[in-house]
Amino acid sequence: MASIDRLLICPLCHDRLLNPTTLHCGHSLCSRHLQAPSSSCPVPLCSSQPPSLRIPPHSRVRYTPAQNPVLPAPIPVPDHRSDVVLNKIIILVDRALQADDSEVQDSDSASASSRESSHRPRKRRKQHAVDDDEEPDLLSHLRSVAAQERSIPPDVPLIPSHHSPPPDPALQEFDKKLLDELTCHICYVLFYQPVTTPCQHTYCAKCLQRSLDHSTACPICRQELPSYYFQDQPLNKIIMSIILKAYPLLYQERAQAIQEEERNARLNTPIFVSNLSFPGVPTILHLFEPRYRLMLRRCLESPHPRFGMIMSPKPGAPQINYGTILEIRSVQMLPDGRSLVETYGSARFRILERGSLDGYMVGRIESIFDYPDDITHTPPEPPSDPTPSTPTNEQLMDTCKAFLDRLQRGAAPWVVQRLNSTYGAMPTDPALFSFWVALVLPIEEHEKAKLLPIRSARLRLMLVVHWIEQLNNNWYAWLTFVVVHGWLVDGPALPCLLWVLFVLTIARLIGWI
Ligand SMILES: [Zn+2]
Ligand SMILES: [Zn+2]
Ligand SMILES: [Zn+2]
Ligand SMILES: [Zn+2]
Repeated sequence: MASIDRLLICPLCHDRLLNPTTLHCGHSLCSRHLQAPSSSCPVPLCSSQPPSLRIPPHSRVRYTPAQNPVLPAPIPVPDHRSDVVLNKIIILVDRALQADDSEVQDSDSASASSRESSHRPRKRRKQHAVDDDEEPDLLSHLRSVAAQERSIPPDVPLIPSHHSPPPDPALQEFDKKLLDELTCHICYVLFYQPVTTPCQHTYCAKCLQRSLDHSTACPICRQELPSYYFQDQPLNKIIMSIILKAYPLLYQERAQAIQEEERNARLNTPIFVSNLSFPGVPTILHLFEPRYRLMLRRCLESPHPRFGMIMSPKPGAPQINYGTILEIRSVQMLPDGRSLVETYGSARFRILERGSLDGYMVGRIESIFDYPDDITHTPPEPPSDPTPSTPTNEQLMDTCKAFLDRLQRGAAPWVVQRLNSTYGAMPTDPALFSFWVALVLPIEEHEKAKLLPIRSARLRLMLVVHWIEQLNNNWYAWLTFVVVHGWLVDGPALPCLLWVLFVLTIARLIGWI
């Protein structure tokens, strides 16, 4: 108890904490030091490292935390409320110390009539006076509790149980109450990386982040919390020191269990169900759903930050099994917890088995590669009489390029401009070229997705050329597409002119003018 008591010290006046308030930096001070409405930390040389996101040091992802453009940081503490957990611990320690003292005094007064009955309390008091650090009863008790709790699974709410006779009922009671106070109200286990909100409620950093993914209200008092505030919040230093003093082994086991859980979560490939994407092509995503915020955090903490993306299936259609692995290149966090994620398609995959983890899809996948000799394999070409039905890969690519040239020269120069600016320069590799060209074709996305399972670049090119031939034949639909898309991209002027020319031509053809 005394060792816990010594941790309850104000870092500013170095006296016992009185009505403590915890600031964003993780420092807990007596409320009287804080000048309303500002709550900038008055502790000299206050600097705290954020603990929340453990991005591996060698990660290639450019991670930009959210900037708060409107409100000055840190957020003022409303009405100088007291840190709820710390206050309860102070009361608990005070009561325990008072009870201990009164027990000793009772024993002293009784010692005149019975020397034997006062033997144990006297001995304890003597040790207490000589060296508070020792506390053999408390420390050995805490060690035995921690050892017993080793066998308790991390997901089970932690209720200390003692099969062996406890060393001291008062210590056991104190220990139980202290552990109760250090229990997170979200996961019902010992705090892991405790952070304290402006409303002075404390949670595990990860529990609070997950709660904020769903709602910006404090889970206990429902006060509105700015979610960006916690994206990089330092730990509550005093609560952390109490946990490490009282339950070092239990805390270590919590950390190991959480890391194991996170590792298991990464074993399966997370799958984002959204749009079509192809290998070799950059994709920028806007993640805002709570489940995908969690998925992104887990991806960023992995050594290879990536996830799979598949299209949403059409209503009533069978589920989609093919998608593209997206490597995360950069992440821009937004103040409200949403994020812009820049990715690059690296490989195709097929889902062998699917499940869900905390609301998002995970899958066991296999990669899809092209047949190794596919690129060089083109049909034999008789030198004298080339057969039009068996074009080479180069001829297929030329057909695609001619189509794009026609677009560029014709009424839709924006198509190719958009291709270059959005999807990068035209690849020379036939395997990637097939995907790149398919992206701009004005055909249905689920039709384009048929390219994903095809393991031959040549077959993919033939399918793309087939689509182009269909488009060339179906010129009316193509013109409509150009006009509608041109309208959306360039505004109404050019499409209107095209329509006027088109109507004039038709009118002249049928003899109206
Ligand atoms: Zn103070
Ligand atoms: Zn501080
Ligand atoms: Zn928790
Ligand atoms: Zn609250």
